[in-house]
Amino acid sequence: MPNNRVINFNEPYISGDEEKYIKDVFERNSFYGNGYYTQECQKIIKDRVGAKNVLLTDSCTSALEMAALLLRDWDYEQEVILPSYTFTSTAAAFAKVGFKIIFAEINPHTMMLDIDDVTKKLTNRTTAIIIVHYGGFGASAELFKELCDGKSIYLIEDAAQAYGSKENDRHLGTIGDLGCFSFHETKNLHAGLSGALVINNEKFNQRAMHILERGTNRQEVLKGLEDKYSWVEIGGSFYPTELQAAFLFPQLKSFEKNLIKREEIFLGYYEAFLNQNFKNLHFHKVKADSKINYHAFWLIFASIEECNFVRTSLLDNNINAYIGYVPLHSSKVGIKMGYSKEDLKLTQEYSERLLRLPLHHNMIKEDSLMISQMIIKLLIEYRL
Ligand SMILES: *Cc1c(COP(=O)(O)O)cnc(C)c1O
Repeated sequence: MPNNRVINFNEPYISGDEEKYIKDVFERNSFYGNGYYTQECQKIIKDRVGAKNVLLTDSCTSALEMAALLLRDWDYEQEVILPSYTFTSTAAAFAKVGFKIIFAEINPHTMMLDIDDVTKKLTNRTTAIIIVHYGGFGASAELFKELCDGKSIYLIEDAAQAYGSKENDRHLGTIGDLGCFSFHETKNLHAGLSGALVINNEKFNQRAMHILERGTNRQEVLKGLEDKYSWVEIGGSFYPTELQAAFLFPQLKSFEKNLIKREEIFLGYYEAFLNQNFKNLHFHKVKADSKINYHAFWLIFASIEECNFVRTSLLDNNINAYIGYVPLHSSKVGIKMGYSKEDLKLTQEYSERLLRLPLHHNMIKEDSLMISQMIIKLLIEYRL
């Protein structure tokens, strides 16, 4: 059953109302940011995830960089522990302000940080553990929170892919001291580029505003609390323009609609493989106590060769499945940091056996069912 229509790995979601709200920014005649739509987006995100404080940023990378600046104490050598199986920004945000990057192993069943390996790598310089909620699934945030509590270690959640997902009825991004969301066009909801920093630990509220305002006390001056505008902190340019926020606004409002469609397509894959009994074929099971945002579906094959065979065969049929992250510890930068491939054997091996399947709004459930049937056929053929 060849497939002629090209099925892309991802296509940006469009709610339909983006242009209307962007036009309204022209009416309001304030563009640079921190205005009406920024406030509205922050309110929606806060209500959705039940957070105390949310700052809209121009990317998740910026939210992570703000987190790194908030945690940096320039008088000390500091370490952060994070997975190597993640996007560059998770590590780079902390590396660029001088944290030593300690990569820990993943649990191959979840592709997320292994708490036992993290525990082994704790030192008296460990400032934070950064968990990554891969594919919108929870990384067991509460277990990591318990580990951090009592050791004065901060927990940071890279929830770039996890907006709207829950673990034990708590929204991902709200369990650690700080949480970071992405609204990049490859994520469920987006503004082209955008993101958010969730501040759960109140001690960071004021300094986060300084960092967001390019290191100044501008907010206090605007509120009349300070009469002079001055440089109080090393900050940056981290917030989006009103044009981005106006684009994001209707996207955030269409959360439920977006989710229902993603769930259908996700279930096309999930149910097809749940009904199979292949040995050495893994995918993440949906736990009863979690609620996911259906960001991604992936398969882990028995070998790198089998994974490549399926990927290239799908490509021959105009279906673009995508490999997972290339581990950071064995990348050019990772090697420079002193790591070698062998340091994280599970990360290295499982990342090369993983294939992410297309999932976006220009698909229907029949597409994911068709792709699943094609993969099942390919596997039977390959394993003969
Ligand atoms: C997408 C992603 C990022 C980066 O998000 P941007 O908004 O593009 O900066 C960071 N971490 C993870 C895990 C991601 O998936």
